[in-house]
Amino acid sequence: MKIKCSSIFKTYHISKTRDVINDLSFELDTGNSLALYGPSGVGKSTLLNILSGLDNPDRGEIIYNDICFTDLSDTEKISFRLEHISHVFQTPNLLQDFNVIENIMLPMRYKGISKKKSRDIAMGCLEEVGCQEHATSSVTTLSGGEAQRVGIARAMAKSSKIIFADEPTGNLDNENSKVVIDNLINICKTKSITLIIVTHDENIISKTSNSMKMLDGKIT
Ligand code: ADP
Ligand code: MG
Repeated sequence: MKIKCSSIFKTYHISKTRDVINDLSFELDTGNSLALYGPSGVGKSTLLNILSGLDNPDRGEIIYNDICFTDLSDTEKISFRLEHISHVFQTPNLLQDFNVIENIMLPMRYKGISKKKSRDIAMGCLEEVGCQEHATSSVTTLSGGEAQRVGIARAMAKSSKIIFADEPTGNLDNENSKVVIDNLINICKTKSITLIIVTHDENIISKTSNSMKMLDGKIT
């Protein structure tokens, strides 16, 4: 799915007013990957939240293919997100009461996909991230890198058109980061999933098709 956003503004008012996003525009084509980087507190997570509809911009327009996302109602945004968008966070937040494959099946079950089909898709995704042997393991037995790869499998399993990853390797060592990122970028490329990764890691920036530095609410 193609992303186009034009003149996004977002100001937070707490003790003082802060223009976190200040006239930001960019485009990203279907299946391309974008590394978003810049100092802490510059508004990277805010931008991802706005793009995925978890937060609203004060002004500006976000268009996915030919759908004007910012014009959708809250309910329509929720269905759009459920259908097309997945997230990978710094920690995968796997549910401990469910085993590995059940964690991956859950978002599909919410979408109404049958148990059998969800299980088959989940197994395929686990194979793609190289964690198939952990399918029936408790999530508490996974290493940090494995848990994050399971998180990626869960994001892929929904067959979303867009993945937003907010510092997905923030908790991992270099070796595991490399495996996780290579996995994520390769899978998105093969499946034409559009990917935005927030990162501090220069190695990631060199692997994505596009990169964008944020400073003072703008792209530099
Ligand atoms: P980054 O992800 O680049 O580290 P964030 O997007 O998390 O930055 O935050 C950007 C700025 O906006 C920070 O100064 C932060 O304190 C502020 N901020 C983020 N979310 C909120 C919020 N919900 N309410 C008020 N201020 C916020
Ligand atoms: Mg952040």
